[in-house]
Amino acid sequence: MKERENEFLKSLFKKYYFDYIDKIPVPDALYEREFGYQKFDGVGAMIRHIQIADAGEFKAFLMGNAPSDVYCSNGYYSFPALPLKEKDWQGADLIFDIDAKDLELPCRKKHVLGVCEPCCRSMTGNPDGTTTAAVCDGCGGSESKMRKKSLPCKPCMQAAKKQVRGLVDILCRDLGVSPGEIKTYFSGNEGFHLHVAHDAFRVLGRQERSDLADYIMLKGLVPETMGMSKIRPDKNGFADLHEGGWRGRFAKAAFGSKTKRASIISGLVKSPDAGYVEFQKMMDDAAARIGIQIDPGVSMDVHRIFRMPFTLNSKSGMQKAPCPDVDAFDPYTAAVVLDSDSVAHVVADCPVRFGLGGRRFGPYKAETVELPAYAAAYMICKGFARMA
Ligand SMILES: [Zn+2]
Ligand SMILES: [Zn+2]
Repeated sequence: MKERENEFLKSLFKKYYFDYIDKIPVPDALYEREFGYQKFDGVGAMIRHIQIADAGEFKAFLMGNAPSDVYCSNGYYSFPALPLKEKDWQGADLIFDIDAKDLELPCRKKHVLGVCEPCCRSMTGNPDGTTTAAVCDGCGGSESKMRKKSLPCKPCMQAAKKQVRGLVDILCRDLGVSPGEIKTYFSGNEGFHLHVAHDAFRVLGRQERSDLADYIMLKGLVPETMGMSKIRPDKNGFADLHEGGWRGRFAKAAFGSKTKRASIISGLVKSPDAGYVEFQKMMDDAAARIGIQIDPGVSMDVHRIFRMPFTLNSKSGMQKAPCPDVDAFDPYTAAVVLDSDSVAHVVADCPVRFGLGGRRFGPYKAETVELPAYAAAYMICKGFARMA
């Protein structure tokens, strides 16, 4: 199954690691980290608990294994190659994952497709990316073989970038992180990873990281935090627009202006019981609008192995690319690093036109096309194409 596609991708990925090896930074504290990887023909199996001694071994690891995906632990261990219980955990960087799919923008119904795994037929359909077809109209296969795949989308990326900016703001202003301690990467698919190497976070356990995630997402707040109480609420205790941290951000989002703030608060304190309930609702609304949409499971995890920066993502054939300037960063050019000189012939099926590497592609209706290798790889990774 998919043998020729795997061979094609493997040779392109191999060429990338060969050509770019000197530009891929060696992770710091190399010897204390756990590495892992997957292979194209390894049916998704993860090979992990690998320890790497030095820069030479690191290069050999990337070039020799022809990996489809490469991972590195956020954790530091005395014995990274041993089973989890014996590794002797020493700490972990804090990592945040912001994914456009979690933002559930209305545009997704236009660029998330249902793709039939066996025959590569792709279909637009329901907002969640499933198709309305009970069977594939290409091969007659069942709906269970349909996979959701997303194409590049500017509004989704803009929305994800806004979350990144919000997260950086909270980390720096509220939590004492300096901008130099944050490294931002495009995930290689539809989101961003922020790696935070801040000494005070390094030894935090799972529960503390979970609390930190709640803070960032503005979750689990009680009205008292923002000044409302059931018994004799004090007008002066309410969050104000000029305050720092979440109280200030909440006041701006919930009240809007000084005048509105005064009149809303007067209404709330007049009947505290009803006001308390109403205020809780105002806080929930504000949290949904201004809380940062991170994946809390990722931030909590102190033992995860993460996609390694500068490596390739086999879901797209794009790079987990550094974003020194998030606003200016265009993932669909900057993270396209596979061969653009050679071409490949594929049978492509994609009802939506999309941009990649500065060119436009599609729509294709089950047709044989000649594409630059990077675009062929992208479509094969997504499942919209197979080798001709
Ligand atoms: Zn099919
Ligand atoms: Zn979108």
